Amino acid sequence: MPTLFIATGNAHKVQEIRAVLGSGFTVLSQKDANVKLEPEETGATFAANAQIKAVTWAAYLATDVCNLGADYVLADDSGLEVDALGGAPGVHSARFAALDDDRKGNSPDAENNAKLLRLLAPIPEGRRTARFRSTLALTPVTPGASPEAMAAASRFFDGVCEGRIALAPSGQGGFGYDCLFIPDGYSVSFAELGEEIKNRHSHRAKALARLQAGW
Ligand code: IMP
Repeated sequence: MPTLFIATGNAHKVQEIRAVLGSGFTVLSQKDANVKLEPEETGATFAANAQIKAVTWAAYLATDVCNLGADYVLADDSGLEVDALGGAPGVHSARFAALDDDRKGNSPDAENNAKLLRLLAPIPEGRRTARFRSTLALTPVTPGASPEAMAAASRFFDGVCEGRIALAPSGQGGFGYDCLFIPDGYSVSFAELGEEIKNRHSHRAKALARLQAGW
């Protein structure tokens, strides 16, 4: 059974990835490594940022210091694209509010959601279309190989979930923009629909299904 190390400090992402992958994989996360690596996400695309995270962790796990037995690192880079905002916040989804005052690091979900609602206030319901996107980078942990070689051996899997942005937040589940995102085919947000339905339709679930199919 392959051992995957999930390269994220986001406990919600780890929970979703574990739930969707099921029992075919041994899943480790940052908690098991006892160290926090938070590489700067300087890429212009989800794939570039997923690769930065996956390769940083693969290079670390390939050293003798941390012998967790991970075969691969799996990194998710994801975000929300809103059509009325020209695709924003996109790769800046985690730090959408912080962009306004040049703050470093991610912004609290509540601030990102408030900014999104403010910018969309003049936009009528029919024009609030949006999508979540996830790109997964799967990088082999190869002792002795350079980070460049591990980067070159990475594989990528994409998932998209179409929907629209609600007029107001609702629901308690999930994280990030879940309380504002209504997936196509439903009339309430991912936060209201709950984990099981989100894990059937989400961008991350679709990318993980591709990974499992291409394994
Ligand atoms: P990342 O951790 O750098 O990939 O940032 C992803 C950001 O996109 C998160 O902080 C959320 O704001 C948003 N996001 C990504 N996936 C989801 C999701 O499944 N639900 C809600 N928000 C999400």
